[in-house]
Amino acid sequence: MDIEQAKIPQATAKRLPLYYRFLESLQSSGKHRVSSSELSEAVKVDSATIRRDFSYFGALGKKGYGYNVNYLLTFFRKTLDQDEVTKVILVGVGNLGTALLNYNFSKSNNMRIEMAFDVDENKVGQEIGNVSIHHLNNIEELIQGEIEVAILTVPANAAQPIADQLVKAGIKGILNFTPARLSVPENVRIHHIDLSVELQSLVYFLKHYPM
Ligand code: ATP
Repeated sequence: MDIEQAKIPQATAKRLPLYYRFLESLQSSGKHRVSSSELSEAVKVDSATIRRDFSYFGALGKKGYGYNVNYLLTFFRKTLDQDEVTKVILVGVGNLGTALLNYNFSKSNNMRIEMAFDVDENKVGQEIGNVSIHHLNNIEELIQGEIEVAILTVPANAAQPIADQLVKAGIKGILNFTPARLSVPENVRIHHIDLSVELQSLVYFLKHYPM
């Protein structure tokens, strides 16, 4: 990442994949420009935020013209490493892990779950969605420091010791689907997705802040 890209705020960086997906579909339908209000409607981010986000990377929309789709896509591809496939591992092939393996980000061509890990002997040696399931004990020799991202879909009480094992194996980013709060060294990043909390919060907002 170069210095200029490193200055993009985290909140902006998190929205980039959202913009990217929409712009890609615009490009494939032959559209060359897009207004911030069109984008806003599609990605459900207000247009002032979009304008601010885009200004960080020098894309200043022109009044009455909007943004150039190809320019934005070229920039996003570079920033999001869309030209490179990011290999990911998944640990815990239960219901959620199985669903993610079958899904395997097939709609995005820059991410792939390469291997899965579990400790259940009935699962080890099997394949789901073309991904082989290995025993967690073999993780270090299998990833050889070449994979840095892991998806964690194990029971909550197993999450911390597994996170420690992942860090030891060289993992630098964990997408944590368990409700457990993980402690990891400072150089490791955790993104937490607790589906039941998200759902509860949606229901709360619907009840208390009807649109
Ligand atoms: P889900 O939580 O995804 O709905 P589930 O209810 O089928 O799955 P869980 O008990 O949550 O199963 O376990 C998820 C997976 O994590 C299982 O495949 C289980 O074998 C695996 N697992 C449990 N403990 C460990 C561990 N210490 N290391 C790796 N995998 C584990």
